[in-house]
Amino acid sequence: MTNKSPLILHISLPVPVRHHFDYLADKSSTIDQSKTGVRVLVPFGKNNQKVGIVTGYSNTSDVNPKKLKPVINIIDEEPLFDNEHIKLLHWASKYYHYPLGELIFASLPALLRKGKKAEHQLKQIWQLTEKGKLFDINLLSRAVKQQAILNFIRQQATGCPANLFEQEFRNWRSPLNALIDKDLVQVLSVFVDAYKNGEGKTTINLNDEQSNAFSIINNGLNSDHRYLLDGITGSGKTEVYLEAIKKVIENGKQALVLVPEIGLTPHFISRFQQRIPSQLVVLHSGLSDGERLHAWLKARDGVAQVVLGTRSAVWTPLKNAGLIIVDEEHDQSYKQQDSLRYSARDIAILRASLYKIPIILGSATPSLETLHNVEIKKITRITLARRAENAIPPKFRIIDMRGQQITGALSGALINAIRDVLSQKKQVLLFQNRRGYSPVLMCHQCNWINLCSRCDIPLTYHKIGKKLICHHCGHQGRPSTTCNDCNAEDMIQIGHGTERVYETLSECFPSARILRIDRDSTRRKGSMQNYFEQINSGSVDILVGTQILAKGHHFPKVTLVGIIDTDGGLYSNDFRASEKMAQLIVQVSGRSGRATDPGLVMIQTHHPDHPFLSTLVQNDYNHFARLQMEERKITNLPPYSYQALLRADSHESKYPMVFLETASNSLKLITKKIDVQGPFPAPIEKRAGRYRFQLLIQSDNRTTLQNTLKVWITELDKIKEGKKIRWSIDIDPQDLL
Ligand code: ADP
Ligand code: ZN
Ligand code: ZN
Repeated sequence: MTNKSPLILHISLPVPVRHHFDYLADKSSTIDQSKTGVRVLVPFGKNNQKVGIVTGYSNTSDVNPKKLKPVINIIDEEPLFDNEHIKLLHWASKYYHYPLGELIFASLPALLRKGKKAEHQLKQIWQLTEKGKLFDINLLSRAVKQQAILNFIRQQATGCPANLFEQEFRNWRSPLNALIDKDLVQVLSVFVDAYKNGEGKTTINLNDEQSNAFSIINNGLNSDHRYLLDGITGSGKTEVYLEAIKKVIENGKQALVLVPEIGLTPHFISRFQQRIPSQLVVLHSGLSDGERLHAWLKARDGVAQVVLGTRSAVWTPLKNAGLIIVDEEHDQSYKQQDSLRYSARDIAILRASLYKIPIILGSATPSLETLHNVEIKKITRITLARRAENAIPPKFRIIDMRGQQITGALSGALINAIRDVLSQKKQVLLFQNRRGYSPVLMCHQCNWINLCSRCDIPLTYHKIGKKLICHHCGHQGRPSTTCNDCNAEDMIQIGHGTERVYETLSECFPSARILRIDRDSTRRKGSMQNYFEQINSGSVDILVGTQILAKGHHFPKVTLVGIIDTDGGLYSNDFRASEKMAQLIVQVSGRSGRATDPGLVMIQTHHPDHPFLSTLVQNDYNHFARLQMEERKITNLPPYSYQALLRADSHESKYPMVFLETASNSLKLITKKIDVQGPFPAPIEKRAGRYRFQLLIQSDNRTTLQNTLKVWITELDKIKEGKKIRWSIDIDPQDLL
């Protein structure tokens, strides 16, 4: 026994508590204080084990040292990530008031969460040695097989993997080993690459606006500058990103690129490969666990220069970060809407400032948060006002639906316009942000509506597959033809989803080739890519779909865009509804038209004089955004104030309310400086069998809000009813659903 007190490890575990756990370092182990960030296996509870991560050290513990248990074993020899990354995780845990252990584990690939080794996927290849390159092959005339194999390796430019030998030779191992013994061939371990290295053969000449944008960014590549690349759709933002990334790679650094949608990745991948000679990894929800781990490791170790991914890719550690890009920064999908409710855009901004590297936020329809940051000079705005290739922006027309003859959901004016476009052999895009056939199934005799038993909201009728599906909890049932209330056989479909619009179109235009694109029709892997090929090759006449169509793609043959229903966004309780609607309209509209075929956008509405629509149509998004900002300023709403939402739900409706009322009272004791609204029921009060309530708190000072939350949460942990319910805090909530 030495006199030194034993080393105590602070271990974060994936459990919902706001503190770490103390364990003893195993005496024989090599663990020391440089090893923050290594995973360990620890005993937990009765007969249980958990993978944890070392987040600190000390010589003392609040727990009686005799009760401390030693770790079972140390999984990683080296920390999983560097101190900078650990700082990021700590910061996020504090900002989102989310337990550090849970946050760290949520940010890791599944295999690492399970305790698998952090090992790269390698394969062996065989190559000629220097001696082998010069060797006279005739000298092997008495070892025919060796001669053939040596000759074969000579013909391969980049070395031979086992599968090539397998195809060509039988029993190739022993002659190959003989060649290795003669020092003619060597075996190397190389990374398995999911994507071919980019060739970077294609170059492009940036136009004046793009060159200007690029030179501003290029000048700031060694700074921690933030840019908003505010460019209308088709203005060539992607080309500016690519040039910037090229420079970053030339400087020996990595670029992290976030896109909102997995469907956009194939499009980006091919553009990267054409333009940038580098190794790329892609991280999104469609990967297998193994693929995700290997991509993550390549990013962490700097093997990949470009890391492209959707929301969760923002947590990927980088060895040598040089630039972060968030494409379509306004997109809702950057905010996670369950468990750790983080915004990948905001984490990206924070990462850039921790690493002291630049970040580019790109959008044709910037969020008001970002525009506010431009206003207070935290972000520099760079504008691309013209479309690349000189395409003309689309024209808008509002269709007054009042008193009109309507076929399905389509006005006569829209049907006539579609007919014209089809006769010119051009394409039409119709936007209806609702999947399924009809959102409500109702009894024509007594108004009974078929509701989801777990959510109290109407089930959506899906004609394909003949199902009723709850779009909130996923519950499925068979549509009945009789009413549950009055037994009448008179159930009618109310409202129009994409399936129904498709049906109307096929009745109106029987010879047109129509394609429906929504979450249901694109479930299969690769289906999206396949659809885009069909659209761009011209084998489709009409596209009908949801917001998937609003994201990032170009459909140059589309000359007419029809927006079937906007009215939902005009009169909503959600103060962000008009911002979201404007972004959708502008984004969908931007998919159409080229220089020779300018686009027309027709918007159907029962409120043609609504100021929101006229501003958008007569002016542009920026004008619209300015008016919205003024409104938010007057009403003291974000981005001019900061919000947090305390959510509570339970199978029994009384407990969440009691919890929230107690919470509200305790907040009022802590400070009077915070504005408290509620508690009130969530807009969808019952969801998946749980009753949901919330309390909104707001301040015009972010630090005040954060400091208050910190104190308040320790009080919340003490509320008795809190144990009977589920509660969570949503920082910067994007919707109240
Ligand atoms: P954005 O990302 O702003 O929507 P893209 O970068 O995708 O725009 O560009 C739109 C289209 O214009 C693409 O087909 C792209 O290849 C083309 N393009 C962009 N910049 C140029 C340029 N400088 N010269 C020629 N074509 C360009
Ligand atoms: Zn009825
Ligand atoms: Zn439901």
